[in-house]
Amino acid sequence: MPIADARGRRDTLPAMCRICLKRPEIPDERYGRCEACAKAGRVAYRFRLGPSRQAPGIAIKAGELSPRALRQRWREPLQAFAGQPAVKGPLGLHEVELVTARDRLEAIRLSPDLGGNAAAALEALRAAADRTDAAW
Ligand SMILES: [Zn+2]
Repeated sequence: MPIADARGRRDTLPAMCRICLKRPEIPDERYGRCEACAKAGRVAYRFRLGPSRQAPGIAIKAGELSPRALRQRWREPLQAFAGQPAVKGPLGLHEVELVTARDRLEAIRLSPDLGGNAAAALEALRAAADRTDAAW
């Protein structure tokens, strides 16, 4: 039997934390986090990739951070990122997610369709972090 919450939404289960994907999220939490991830200052930022207008390949087309904000906070961590972007979490088609903890870039997640394109996705993020535009 589904449970209706205060806003009339009917859910069988509480939504899971967007970051750890393990614990239930705090209801209406700004970043969709559980208590532990909120305390640790972890935030996930999602971006969508599409065909690049300039070079052959893919580029960021939209995101939860503007190009300028991405550049200000994450340009250097992206350049220094030595990990491997991995397919994880409930991401939609062509989506990538930066998982951050305060000033640290913890992980880069990819939607399943980008699984074979991890290097290109990372390059697209780095290229986007070179931009100074206020909007995509
Ligand atoms: Zn969590």
